[in-house]
Amino acid sequence: MAALDIRQIPVLKDNFVYLAREPASGAVAVVDPAVVEPVLEEAQRLGWKITHILNTHHHGDHVGGNLEIKAATGCTIVGPGHDSARIPGIDIEVRDGDSFALGYANAEVFFVPGHTSGHIAYWFKDSAALFCGDTLFSIGCGRLFEGTAQQMWTSLSRLKALPPQTQIYCAHEYTESNIRFALSVDAGNAALQRRAAEVRSLRAVGKYTVPSLMSDERAANPFLRADAPELAAAVGMAGRDPVDVFAEVRRRKDVF
Ligand code: ZN
Ligand code: FE
Repeated sequence: MAALDIRQIPVLKDNFVYLAREPASGAVAVVDPAVVEPVLEEAQRLGWKITHILNTHHHGDHVGGNLEIKAATGCTIVGPGHDSARIPGIDIEVRDGDSFALGYANAEVFFVPGHTSGHIAYWFKDSAALFCGDTLFSIGCGRLFEGTAQQMWTSLSRLKALPPQTQIYCAHEYTESNIRFALSVDAGNAALQRRAAEVRSLRAVGKYTVPSLMSDERAANPFLRADAPELAAAVGMAGRDPVDVFAEVRRRKDVF
């Protein structure tokens, strides 16, 4: 099966909306449409007919375009069954462990609460693509608006167990500021220093730092390293439970 053709649309201040086309069927999904016009325009420019919306969570910068795009295209809206009341226009409710078929491409659904209580992620295994909304960012993770550190650490631990070649299509370009924070807690990490240099050169020429590679995140993202003895030691919590280390790193980021 051919891999998904994935396009990235930068909208609002720092959001990414994605268009993903399954070439054999022509099915096209919009992932987390924050807005309407830029999405419809890009689909039209590409000659792609939008058949689905995939939502990760209920925040306005992820579902803001749902109803108008549905009205304009007749597409089907897929979203978290755990949170269906907050997903405008939802047609298909998916839950942890469900699979969803976009044409001939299958996505596995993960329930990843923490940023919100109903957050899900879509993993297109055969395309090595993870759409994770605001759960995992490059060198960061989402704020704990509706969840606990325990929930978020469990969610992130599931995502970081995905294959190292997985491309992480997260919903925001936050990497530069994430790196400034990460260096404040994990300055001795050579992988983080390498990623910092790479991000600096990408941003210097106006390029995006997303998607990023799971292997790089595993090595350099402090929120995935709460179980690494070096990081626990660096924040003065050697030997402590990873959940406690994660909670402390998240707390420091909140006030950074
Ligand atoms: Zn959000
Ligand atoms: Fe967001």
